[in-house]
Order: sequence, then C-alpha cells, then structure tokens
Amino acid sequence: MSTSTVINPATEQEIRTVEQVDEAGVDDAVARAIAAQRAWAARPPAEKAAALRAFASVVDAHVDELAAIEVANSGHPIGNAEWEAGHVRDVLNFYAASPERLSGQQIPVAGGLDITFNEPIGVVGVITPWNFPMTIASWGFAPALAAGNAVLIKPAEWTPLTTIRLGELALEAGLPEDLFQVLPGKGSVVGERFVSHPDVRKIVFTGSTEVGTRVMAEAAKQVKRVTLELGGKSANIVFEDCDLERAAATAPYGVFDNAGQDCCARSRILVQRSVYDRFMELLEPAVKGVVVGDPTSRDTEMGPLVSAAHRDSVASYVPDDAPVAFRGSAPSGPGYWFPPTVLTPQRNDRTVTEEIFGPVVTVLPFDDEADAIAMANDTNYGLSGSIWTDNLSRAVRVARAVESGNLSVNSHSSVRFNTPFGGFKQSGLGRELGPDAPLHFTETKNVFFAIGES
Ligand code: NAD
Repeated sequence: MSTSTVINPATEQEIRTVEQVDEAGVDDAVARAIAAQRAWAARPPAEKAAALRAFASVVDAHVDELAAIEVANSGHPIGNAEWEAGHVRDVLNFYAASPERLSGQQIPVAGGLDITFNEPIGVVGVITPWNFPMTIASWGFAPALAAGNAVLIKPAEWTPLTTIRLGELALEAGLPEDLFQVLPGKGSVVGERFVSHPDVRKIVFTGSTEVGTRVMAEAAKQVKRVTLELGGKSANIVFEDCDLERAAATAPYGVFDNAGQDCCARSRILVQRSVYDRFMELLEPAVKGVVVGDPTSRDTEMGPLVSAAHRDSVASYVPDDAPVAFRGSAPSGPGYWFPPTVLTPQRNDRTVTEEIFGPVVTVLPFDDEADAIAMANDTNYGLSGSIWTDNLSRAVRVARAVESGNLSVNSHSSVRFNTPFGGFKQSGLGRELGPDAPLHFTETKNVFFAIGES
C-alpha cells in the first residue's frame, strides 16, 4: 500500500501520511457500496432523514476539530475554516428534509393513472479539489445520500484530512457501514477507476476544466451521468453610478478570499473609465489592508497557498516585468506565501484570460454597458461575477446579459446551500445545491397503470 505525505502549507511541516487506495481497493469499495445502497434505499424516508440529521449534529459537535484540521492541512484562516465546517452541517440539515419530499408526480393521462418515481441512481463517485475540501464534498454527498444513493468520495491528494474525518463521523453518527466511504488516492488511479467502473453510476467532479473534460469524455463511453464544477475567470463589473467606496473596499475580498484559490474569485475587475482612477486610489489601501499571515490567528484574512508547486504556478503569472499596480503584504520564512497582487495588463494578456487560482487580480477599464458585458463574456468560463451599480434597470439588464451561473449585485456572494450553484460554458455542467440537487441524484421512472371499465 503506498502512502502520501500531507504538509501544512503555512509551516511546510509534515502533518501525517495517508494510505492511498489502489484500483482493487476501489473495486472492493464499490462492491460493498452496492449492498449498502440497496439497504439504505429501502429504509423508510423518515429514517433516512433522521440519519442525516444525526450526521449533521455529529458534524456540529466537531466543528472546532474539523476547522482545526482544515487550518493545518489547507492553510485556511481559522474563521473561514469554522464557517466551512458549519456549512457542512447546514448542507446536511437542508438535505435531511429531502427523503420525505421526493414525491414524484401524478400526471393526468387518458385510460389510467400515471405516476413518476424518483429512483436513486445507485453508487455515486464524488471527486473533489483541494481548495474547499469539506464544503465541496458535502455538496455532493449530502443530496446524493438524501436521494437514496451510496457515496464514494475521493479527496484531492494534498487535502484529504477533513474528508477522512467526515467519513469517520458519518459512522459515529450511525450511518450504515459502507454507505459513505472515503477513498484517498491519486486522480489517475482512484478518480479514473470511479469513472471507468460500470457500477459507479454517476460522477460528481469538481476541479479543473482540463481534467473535467477528460472525465466527461470517459464517462460518455458508458453514458454515465456527470455533474461538473470546473474553473472560472469571473468579472467584477464596477459602474460609475455605484457606491464606489464600498465597491473598492470589498473588491479584495471578492478575489483574495482563500488566497484566490476559489473557483468563484472575481479575478477580473472591470471599471468604468470615468471612475477608473478614483477606484484605483480607493483599491490600493484596501488591498494593502488585507491581513495575510498565520491562519491560526483570528485576525488573519488570508493564509498561504496550498503547496510549493501551486505557488510556483501562481508566481509564473507575475514575472519581474509584470504590470504591477500595487501589492499587499505576505510573511517571509516557511510557508507558501504570496502577497495580494493587482495587475493592469492589456486585454488579451494571459493574466486576463487564464484562471490563476491565486491572489492575483487584473483591473481593466471599460467605456459603457455594452463594452462591460462584452468584456465580461469574453472568456470560455462562466461561473460567477459581481455587478456594482445603483441603477436597478442596469443591474437587471447586465445580470441577464452576463453568461454566468452565479451573479451578485452590490455584493460578492456566490454560495448558499439553499440556492443553485454551477457554471455556464466551460465552467461546468449541471447544478449543485439549492432545492433541486437531490433530483440530480435520481432517475425519473414513469409508471402507467391501466384502469379497466367497471
Ligand atoms: P484538478 O482537476 O487537478 O483535480 C481535481 C480532482 O480530480 C482531484 O481530486 C484529483 O486527484 C482528481 N483527478 C485528477 N486527475 C484525474 C483523472 N484523470 N480522473 C479522475 N479524477 C482525477 O483540480 P484542482 O487543482 O484540485 O482544483 C482546482 C480547480 O478546481 C480549479 O480549476 C477550480 O476553479 C476548480 N474548482 C471548481 C469549483 C466549482 O464549483 N466550479 C470549485 C472548486 C474548484
């Protein structure tokens, strides 16, 4: 059995080693999950609901522990990590209501009675990235379990620890053995086997567009269901008629949250030319004020990048001759630190077109509403974005015109467990969260009952 070493990105110290599951291990897990799923699906709806609520309350009792693990493994600031662990509890509680509400339909037809059933798909494979390990895991496993499925989950190699702990907590809460299994390992081994295994009936993949494209192509060979949550290069559009002070004060948090390792990062700030200079004057102190440092400290707003390799990748976008407008601070010494960085490049520069996934933002001027919309949509991605304006009609027009799954007006919020989340274009396929998520883990079965004459 091979192992991988997990590193604390703020200290570069080893935390522990984790055993890597191999292909035979996946096959064994799938076989056990099939049996567990049948028994789970057969349980009365209220029992499934109660089991998910019990899981939520065990997570609630371990919020501090889960948060501490995420701080150490991923370098998330403690306040963020606590929010993330609480979010897992909330997602579980939200979908605990679903088993008793997946009621299907009764459709009026001639000659009989027609009803639909929302049947579970079976065994679902969830593949997660390293940027928000436990929250993204819960977006897959909670609605999938609620809909009567078994879940196998493969965390990212760098950040498996909170997911492993959630697997233990599920058992502690009384979820049946083998129903929810965490399988740490390589994408090229565990992830690929999830996709190729005929008894894994759906894949929920969150990660890069590059790997997601491969997952979709492989899944197509079996017409396997997929939900894909992929990359982003979202725009933060600042119109001259907005509250410019607030737009500038909040812009750093719209992109530098989680050190920019956020698929929803508003990493392209587009500013109306008439207020561009004033916006930059206001943005500079806001960027320099972001508190970057020890993620265990409650004052910290931004921690390190996840790994040395990822820091190298982010740094490659800021060579010595990069058009840096200004930068924030970052600690020196051990840890994969990178300061918040504001660039003012040309429109077609790769910093404007590629997902950097670090604390680097570009600022570009635009002339009018049509120009802003064209620039916002000039990307293969379409995940999120913000629109700053006090003109209601403009807010509605622009929100309808931007090709993106999650927009916010006069804020940078993207994710709520009770509203749908997902991408347009190459940012993904399908939606997670919101009231309909459990339906995406079911097959609709239509049954017609002929009714004879009396
Ligand atoms: P990644 O694509 O490298 O890896 C994601 C997961 O896929 C990991 O668990 C990895 O081990 C696994 N994997 C790798 N190769 C595989 C293969 N051949 N088959 C199956 N699985 C395989 O992504 P990452 O670097 O971990 O995460 C960063 C990316 O995730 C960014 O592009 C980011 O935008 C995206 N992301 C998207 C969302 C969203 O909801 N849209 C959320 C978070 C992150």
